[in-house]
Amino acid sequence: MRPELRWLVMTILIVGVLLAISALALDRPNVIWSTDGPACPACRSEVAFHANKCQGCATDFDWTIAPDDVSPISNHSLSRLEADELREHIERIGEDAAAQLIARKLEIPEERAKAYLESLARGRCGFCGGTGDDLGSTQETKDCPVCFGDENCIASGGTGHSTWGDEAAARAFGRLEQEIRALSPRLPKPMRASELERLVRAFLADHLGTTQAARLPFWQDLIHAEASENTPRRAADVGRARLDLVMTFLRNADGP
Ligand SMILES: [Zn+2]
Ligand SMILES: [Zn+2]
Repeated sequence: MRPELRWLVMTILIVGVLLAISALALDRPNVIWSTDGPACPACRSEVAFHANKCQGCATDFDWTIAPDDVSPISNHSLSRLEADELREHIERIGEDAAAQLIARKLEIPEERAKAYLESLARGRCGFCGGTGDDLGSTQETKDCPVCFGDENCIASGGTGHSTWGDEAAARAFGRLEQEIRALSPRLPKPMRASELERLVRAFLADHLGTTQAARLPFWQDLIHAEASENTPRRAADVGRARLDLVMTFLRNADGP
């Protein structure tokens, strides 16, 4: 074997061994999830969100997003049973009478109320019913101020649970809170409004259905700078509040 070739073989061998060692070192266990939260894979003690090392036993582990079956159940949209109850009421009252009632109570056009009741189902956005539209706007069609046209409940993305432990969502949520605080109260209201809408819409485009999306402030409550000193409602709660209203109106309505 020529001496240069021998060096080449030696180099390849050494690099190979180094790669094998680093691959072994990188193969760390994953964090363990239960409905109580994240725990250390070695000693099972509670660990901080997005941590990579146990404070108790110093085990290194990889952070992972919680699986669906331990992520918190979201009650911001209709459950399967509530959706069944809704259909029963509409059948009892009659589609047109139900739409007229909801239009009158919510002060929205009748065809919008009809569309709301038709598309409302389990996991849908409670504010627009899953139409994606702003039901209150009488002129041209505008996006729903809660789901921005996604049609699913922002707290669960239509799955019925909010995804837990999404590090990117947590980071983006922290950033969003900073940006909202940094908005000058002296800006003209239309500018504040469009910037708040832009920020929230951008967050939801990437992180819909996370526990952070469930805590998202309702941007319309933040438009008036004076009002933003009070705690704003959560957007998902605003959707749920409308659902509760609609269900109450339908429950109390007489049949034809
Ligand atoms: Zn541990
Ligand atoms: Zn909506």
